[in-house]
Amino acid sequence: MDLSIPFQLENYIDGKFQPPLGGQYIDNIEPATGKVYGAIPHSNEKDIQAAVTAAEKAFPAWSKTPAEKRFQILNNIAQLIDEQLDVLALAETNDNGKPLWLSQEVDIPRASSNFRFFATAAMHFAAESHTMDGSGINYTLRQPIGIVGCISPWNLPIYLFTWKIAPALAAGNCVIAKPSEVTPVSAYLLAKICQHAGLPQGVLNIVHGDGPHCGEAIVKHPDIKAISFTGSTRAGERIASIAAPMFKKLSLELGGKNPNIIFADCDWEKMMRTTLRSSFANQGQICLCGSRILIEASVYEKFKTEFVTRVQQLKVGDPLEDSSKQGAVVSKLHYDKVMGCIELARKEGGTILCGGNAFQPEGRCKDGFFIAPTVIEGLGPQCITNTEEIFGPVVTLQPFETYEEALTLANASSYGLSATIWTQDVTKAHRLAGNLQCGIVWINCWLVRDLRTPFGGTKNSGVGREGGWEAMRFFTEAKNVCVVV
Ligand code: NAD
Repeated sequence: MDLSIPFQLENYIDGKFQPPLGGQYIDNIEPATGKVYGAIPHSNEKDIQAAVTAAEKAFPAWSKTPAEKRFQILNNIAQLIDEQLDVLALAETNDNGKPLWLSQEVDIPRASSNFRFFATAAMHFAAESHTMDGSGINYTLRQPIGIVGCISPWNLPIYLFTWKIAPALAAGNCVIAKPSEVTPVSAYLLAKICQHAGLPQGVLNIVHGDGPHCGEAIVKHPDIKAISFTGSTRAGERIASIAAPMFKKLSLELGGKNPNIIFADCDWEKMMRTTLRSSFANQGQICLCGSRILIEASVYEKFKTEFVTRVQQLKVGDPLEDSSKQGAVVSKLHYDKVMGCIELARKEGGTILCGGNAFQPEGRCKDGFFIAPTVIEGLGPQCITNTEEIFGPVVTLQPFETYEEALTLANASSYGLSATIWTQDVTKAHRLAGNLQCGIVWINCWLVRDLRTPFGGTKNSGVGREGGWEAMRFFTEAKNVCVVV
């Protein structure tokens, strides 16, 4: 299998690699160096139409392919991802700016887990039946929808791309998928892997391009019956406004502003180590990062001193070096946004305890987009810094006195994706978990994932759930059949 990466990427439509029909490209920029290092198809509705035509042709056979065969193909894809871990990890790091060790340890293994997990789902998926007091039975058919659209963001490129594609294919659908235009390379390589793994042509079509032209062409296409989207709340709102009047099935996984709630009685060392990660992993560019740290007042000063000391020891630098704990943020646009948020925090009266500035490594990365991990205190729950998603290496600290105040502060957000609780008091932890307005709660841990569990948010963090049977149900239509005997 040839996994070399050409300067100009191509779309993968009908099992073939092809240039965008309009002949237009977008620059691909390496965030660690700031240099253009590739070109991405700037696809439009013509490319999407070609992909839909291919998918329509492929659907009758794929939807009837025995589950065991689908399992084998998806499992082959997982196997090939594992075999190509080093190539994929390097591509992901060059595209995204994240440390190479992180791509190797998290992003790529998770992409193969997604395929392996949903390969088995194809074999195990079953539907309900309801008997009627001996007079008859209802049974439910779970049938593939047809052609579905999967649109993913740049922060965990292949990890989130495969999280959507794998269940869609396992359930027997044909897919039109668009990775982020900011991080397209791992999706390009995945297309090569799928071709090699024996996925029939037209079953998965990967089309590159931006949101307004390529993404919206997917959302608007009348023959694409469901949209699974992960990205910003702003884009989710736009997508819903187009897809809802067309009565498409919609799964929207959107932004977050997650609280990390620390009580004085927690396992201190475990909390400190994990909080460092939940604040700054992937440069804070994980929708599940705990960007609002709420600390019981009696340990606020102790936490602040220790935390800031540890944050200042996080080495920012070339993502290709093992010693770098923090790489570059994903783009100049995002760098400007995050730096603007830090400036706003200053204007709102916040105190910058550490970071607050850009960082310029020596050598090859001197023009990259690096930001020193930043900790801010002194801002209340109504400040924009504490209400708007920043999605970068920036966290705020807020003290609380009581359980009730912690709950009020945690829920003081228009978002509702996830929350983390640190306490040894199990009663308090479970009570709080039940009262938090969000879709995912971690108690004394963070980002521990079991792929069977429902994943998603409430409020402005989205609608619908991914993961396990939730994903298989999303990617199928339920049809009830009633038989009276
Ligand atoms: P984004 O919304 O700008 O883009 C996401 C994807 O949508 C990209 O592929 C983009 O091209 C496409 N897109 C943009 N506008 C579109 C439109 N009008 N129609 C169709 N497609 C469109 O988001 P981003 O900047 O790539 O990612 C960061 C955001 O994603 C953050 O808000 C983060 O919280 C969120 N996110 C959420 C989750 C979750 O599971 N809830 C996971 C990861 C990231």
